[in-house]
Amino acid sequence: MADVRGRGGRPQTVLEVIRTQRLTPHLMRVVAGGPGFASFQNNACTDRYVKLLFVEPSHALEPPYDLEQLRAERPEALPRMRTYTVRWVDTEAQELAIDFVLHGDDGVAGPWAARARPGDQLVLSGPGGGYAPDPAADRHLLVGDLSAQPAIAAALEAMPADAVGHAVIQVEDESDVVELAHPDGVHLTWVRERGEQALLAAVQALAWPEGDVQAFVHGERGSVKLLRRYLSEERDLDRARLSISAYWAQGRVEDQFQAEKREPVGQI
Ligand SMILES: Cc1cc2nc3c(=O)[nH]c(=O)nc-3n(C[C@H](O)[C@H](O)[C@H](O)COP(=O)(O)OP(=O)(O)OC[C@H]3O[C@@H](n4cnc5c(N)ncnc54)[C@H](O)[C@@H]3O)c2cc1C
Repeated sequence: MADVRGRGGRPQTVLEVIRTQRLTPHLMRVVAGGPGFASFQNNACTDRYVKLLFVEPSHALEPPYDLEQLRAERPEALPRMRTYTVRWVDTEAQELAIDFVLHGDDGVAGPWAARARPGDQLVLSGPGGGYAPDPAADRHLLVGDLSAQPAIAAALEAMPADAVGHAVIQVEDESDVVELAHPDGVHLTWVRERGEQALLAAVQALAWPEGDVQAFVHGERGSVKLLRRYLSEERDLDRARLSISAYWAQGRVEDQFQAEKREPVGQI
């Protein structure tokens, strides 16, 4: 199935899992491709993200899913949507990769990735995106947890060799520390401490870079809120140079987390 549009929704790309790779105990790479890849409209953002659509096998739905009809007639069968960064796209091989945090048995996407096998179907819409490193920036600051590591890794790879700055990544534990390609001038810090204060403390410990700083800050909502306050109020970082949002929230499934973005608790 190539270019398909689920009625009442965005175009859907229907892929199949080609292979999986356990990158670390908490990170699973799923590489997907197949004939449906032809309809994937890539973009130039390093944080390009897609909505994955998961259906219950018992509903026996075939993609593309007609979301409008399902909403009206079978709301219980609507796909569960989950948002993920596309780590890389290989247009020659007609493949893309998504790195999933394995956060236990709760949820839809994480458990799906843990069990994914070649030939499994993966339905997505998008990509969207909003950030790419600006080669003209004096300094880069990239901050996030494992859920943002795919976007941070993609940004580091896209930077010019003479780029300068810091990348600060919070991992679940030591076993999640991996080699990431990065410009020599971008210093990589791994934060092993857990909790929402740990990322803030690691960023506060950096010597604040001089000049025009471009920042990318994403991850768990509590941490991101603390960082937002610090960067805006104490460092006076220009909002236009700051890409910041929560990627998930402790104790919330994504549906609830997305709904809360309209309420004070969900606002960054
Ligand atoms: C733009 C964007 C890009 C993203 N890119 C990625 C990506 O590349 N890789 C990635 O892994 N995630 C990414 N995320 C985060 C991902 O969408 C959420 O983690 C999502 O909740 C996972 O869905 P789930 O079905 O596994 O768990 P859900 O059903 O949503 O949640 C079940 C439970 O697991 C908890 N949970 C969810 N995510 C995590 C986590 N990362 N660590 C610990 N506990 C968690 C929830 O708090 C909840 O209690 C991105 C989010 C956004 C908005």
